[in-house]
Amino acid sequence: MNKLPKVSEDFPGWYQAVVREAGLAENGPARGSQIIKPFGWSIWESIWRELDDRFKATGHENMMFPLLMPTKLFEAEAQHVEGFAPEVAVVTHGGGEELEEPLAIRPTSEALIWDAYSRWIQSYRDLPLLYNQWCNVLRWEKRSRLFLRTSEFWWQEGHTAHASRQEAWEETLRMLEVYREVIEDVCAIPVYRGRKSPSERFAGADETTTLEGMMRDTKALQCCTSHFLGQNFSKAYNVQYLNPDGEQEYAWGTSWGLSTRSVGAVIMTHGDDKGLRLPYQVAPTQVVIVPIYRSDDERSTVMERADNVRNALVKDGIRVKIDDRDQFRPGYKFAEWELKGIPIRIELGPRDVGNDELIVADRVTSEKSAVSTSVAVSGMADVLKSSWQALYDDATRFRDSNTYDFSTFEEIAEGIESKGGFWRGIWCGDETCETKVTEATKATIRTVPLDKEDPHGSCIVCGKAGEETAIWGRAY
Ligand SMILES: [Zn+2]
Repeated sequence: MNKLPKVSEDFPGWYQAVVREAGLAENGPARGSQIIKPFGWSIWESIWRELDDRFKATGHENMMFPLLMPTKLFEAEAQHVEGFAPEVAVVTHGGGEELEEPLAIRPTSEALIWDAYSRWIQSYRDLPLLYNQWCNVLRWEKRSRLFLRTSEFWWQEGHTAHASRQEAWEETLRMLEVYREVIEDVCAIPVYRGRKSPSERFAGADETTTLEGMMRDTKALQCCTSHFLGQNFSKAYNVQYLNPDGEQEYAWGTSWGLSTRSVGAVIMTHGDDKGLRLPYQVAPTQVVIVPIYRSDDERSTVMERADNVRNALVKDGIRVKIDDRDQFRPGYKFAEWELKGIPIRIELGPRDVGNDELIVADRVTSEKSAVSTSVAVSGMADVLKSSWQALYDDATRFRDSNTYDFSTFEEIAEGIESKGGFWRGIWCGDETCETKVTEATKATIRTVPLDKEDPHGSCIVCGKAGEETAIWGRAY
């Protein structure tokens, strides 16, 4: 293992090193592509499971749509194609011949799915359609960063159709709340929840909602988005239904997505100078047991106890690993599991067996104590929960201490440069003012509140009456 750069001194270098040394991912042979290795994929699988259970519980079903679509199909929704055109890859050859009709590789599947919905939806009785798919998508990227920005990535994309505006808006917010549960209550990432300004909206949406987290370098990361599509796609793909009064109406739509970027968010929200710190719900291993011994006799005594402890913990549904690799010394193993962010380490030597004790070390708090075996085993679920709480509290403290309220343009211009972080200030809602701040600071509006509220003040740029309070920040 190589030493990591310090979080506070070289965050990009730290990120690259931790992704490599912890065995999370590496670059693929094609530029902009990534290989997610088993340890990284396992974190994603846990996030996937947490989401999928909640999608099903809120009435959604999974399906599978194709990777390719005729480019003509993609071009039907004007804003959508304009927004995505620079990122779309097109297949022009197949089977050694030039194709008569070029095929677009999906950057997202609204076009494919609304085209199908035009055949599936005839009557109000066909609504709502509550579908989701787990898949990879491709968006051509010039610069790439593992998990955060790569041409190909995995995600889920939900696509729903409804009979009314109200129902579609409620669905948009319901799925944002599902995301909030997984990002905050599972991944321990405190987020600001809100809408995007019009300039940051999804191409083809009437409203985009988002969750924004703060990474350890105080930059923002958009964790997911849930879009209210209005009738834009139903009109572009002619999805009409007969209402109970026998009249034709266009359906209302939503789409929502969360990707493997969330693994990057977990790494960058919680990591420290020793490496990752993982919330137990997404940790591939929750408890690692490191047996310590010198002789064969000691080995068999310690291993027997280690097996018993493991079996008892597994019975409680805890993911446990015994690190019995003989070629490494305990100190090396400790450092490796710390690098990988495993929440709890149990150290177990012959003396501990004699005392009927375990040494329990918490990765998040760095606390280490001797605990009687039975108490350690029966209390492990609670220990994991308090480790999660410490992680969440730490991330919340960090975010709050790097969030500032401001009231003049000069304050944010100077403050973002010297301190970074999130800046909360009143905005008139005008894109000219938004652009002015972005050009001066490289910060963008990350969110405005979900419900418009009169902030009782004036725009920090133009001085006109404020429409809402915007949170600004530099972002990934
Ligand atoms: Zn203004």
